Amino acid sequence: MSTSEIEWTDKTWNPVRGCVKVSPGCKHCYAEAFAERFRGVAGHPYEQGFDPRLVPDKLDAPLSWRKPCKVFVNSMSDLFMVDVPDDYIAAVFGVMSAVPRHTFQVLTKRAERLPRWFEWVATRPHESPFSACVSAAMDTIEPDPPRRFDNEWWGNLDGDWPLPNVQFGVSVEDRKYGFPRIDHLRKVPAAVRFLSIEPLLEDLGAIDLAGIHWVIAGGESGRRARPMEEDWVRSVRDQCAAAGVPFFYKQRLDEKRRKVSLPLLDGVQHVAMPGVSHVG
Ligand code: SF4
Repeated sequence: MSTSEIEWTDKTWNPVRGCVKVSPGCKHCYAEAFAERFRGVAGHPYEQGFDPRLVPDKLDAPLSWRKPCKVFVNSMSDLFMVDVPDDYIAAVFGVMSAVPRHTFQVLTKRAERLPRWFEWVATRPHESPFSACVSAAMDTIEPDPPRRFDNEWWGNLDGDWPLPNVQFGVSVEDRKYGFPRIDHLRKVPAAVRFLSIEPLLEDLGAIDLAGIHWVIAGGESGRRARPMEEDWVRSVRDQCAAAGVPFFYKQRLDEKRRKVSLPLLDGVQHVAMPGVSHVG
């Protein structure tokens, strides 16, 4: 985990590494390109390249970050891919429940699993989904309280659900793959539901923003970046404005195909973020 250059977050946390491509937005996956550079390098975190794997050693890392921050969960993977067992996802949630000072941002392209996982965790033989997740974290990390855990939290099986400090997002690179993900996202209870419209690959037309609390948009970067028209972004921005949804314009390419972070659109920088919990 490290300080992040991603404009809408502060840090990344990867209790899972590696992934498998699922849709056109994955074509030039930066995580794959990075991870594969280190395949075979003994002792490197990405010695196994982009092969999916759990990293339970990293589960308790956010507990040592004293300063409150925004944490992008699995920037190098997808927490909801099939290789991640339900109870490991629960352990990740258990850790997130232990550090309410941080805001966790969970972004997935496997949105169809979101409602299934919420149903699974609600039917555990525990008093609540919250206690199921705390128990999973306790079982997965180690049998006795690690020193970094606040003793008041360790064993506390009662708290708000859904977790007020967790934001859920889905990727929406196009209509075909992106729109069904929004429908899945809408079905899950979350403090904040957001859309990552990046890389924006086509004009999305009308977007159903009901139940959505934040939208991020941006174009692809890198040598082989696919083109994005500013009118496509303008349409997203205007729909957000009409619906009262905060809009964040993350990046685009300039005429020389260099990445521009937080670009202007019609002379204005758009960096709005959701400020409150929308649980309910
Ligand atoms: S889901 Fe994300 S991490 Fe996984 S291959 Fe696609 S872009 Fe990469």
